[in-house]
Amino acid sequence: TKYKEGMKKTRHSFSGKINDLIARYRKVDEDFFEELEEVLISADVGVMTVMDLIDELKMEVKRQNIKDTKEVKDVISQKLVDIYYADDDEQLEALNIQANELSVILVVGVNGAGKTTSIGKLAHQLKQQGKNVVLAAGDTFRAGAIEQLEIWGERADVDVIKQSPGSDPAAVIYDGIKAAKARDADVLICDTAGRLQNKVNLMNELSKVKRVIEREVPGAPHEVLLVLDATTGQNALSQAKTFSEATNVSGIVLTKLDGTAKGGIVLAIRNELKVPVKFVGLGEQVDDLQNFNAHAFVYGLFA
Ligand code: GDP
Repeated sequence: TKYKEGMKKTRHSFSGKINDLIARYRKVDEDFFEELEEVLISADVGVMTVMDLIDELKMEVKRQNIKDTKEVKDVISQKLVDIYYADDDEQLEALNIQANELSVILVVGVNGAGKTTSIGKLAHQLKQQGKNVVLAAGDTFRAGAIEQLEIWGERADVDVIKQSPGSDPAAVIYDGIKAAKARDADVLICDTAGRLQNKVNLMNELSKVKRVIEREVPGAPHEVLLVLDATTGQNALSQAKTFSEATNVSGIVLTKLDGTAKGGIVLAIRNELKVPVKFVGLGEQVDDLQNFNAHAFVYGLFA
């Protein structure tokens, strides 16, 4: 499948290292755990998450009286899944879309992360599900951003609401809401600017856009999706922290997972930010966006 193909780098690297470890150690001891720790950190799982996981694993190994490293593999995957879901169930990965009323999705993230591409893919996916989708070109800052969104709008066969470059993003989003209502749309997806050079301005701009959405559509935004580039590793994590301070991020779109062997970043994001990954990008084509499921993800790593 496309998912398996896109996850190839991470899967090969991770399962290769784990299998090698298991073959070399046979016995579960302190040295084994130490090397396991290194494998997980090198897969970008995140130091804090790895520490939690190793503690949990040690307890579980003791509890089940596991001696052989072959048996420990299942425990590792089970614990990774447990850490991911914590108190939540698998519903946390579903997109919050209202039936019979307009849902507004605000998409944020730094330039180059794959925001425009992901919006196009998401529009396509929702359209395939029979939803009436409208896009609002709220990135009025970056040169070419509006045209690029229009190209994706054509690919996904959805309307794009825009103004001229440099205009007020909040005004564009306002227009987008009006148009979405007039067209009886199911989903409005709002693009935003992603220049991080001027953090304060960007965050103020995002707050203003969000206020307009809140005022015009009760209960909205239904989702604030933060787009992060998986290949930037721990950098993505610090970006996520910055954005979640400014806006209430409800989900992550993790792009370019096909381009990295360090897919463990998914687990770090979830554990350290308490925000679920809702979608992963696995390529540049319109159908290369997949709904994320941690259970499938973790078990896929060990396959
Ligand atoms: P934006 O500045 O955040 O809007 O980023 P773009 O949507 O323009 O994407 C930046 C680059 O990343 C483009 O060349 C995209 O084709 C590429 N890209 C986006 N998502 C993915 C993905 O999931 N996989 C791969 N391989 N490339 C991606």
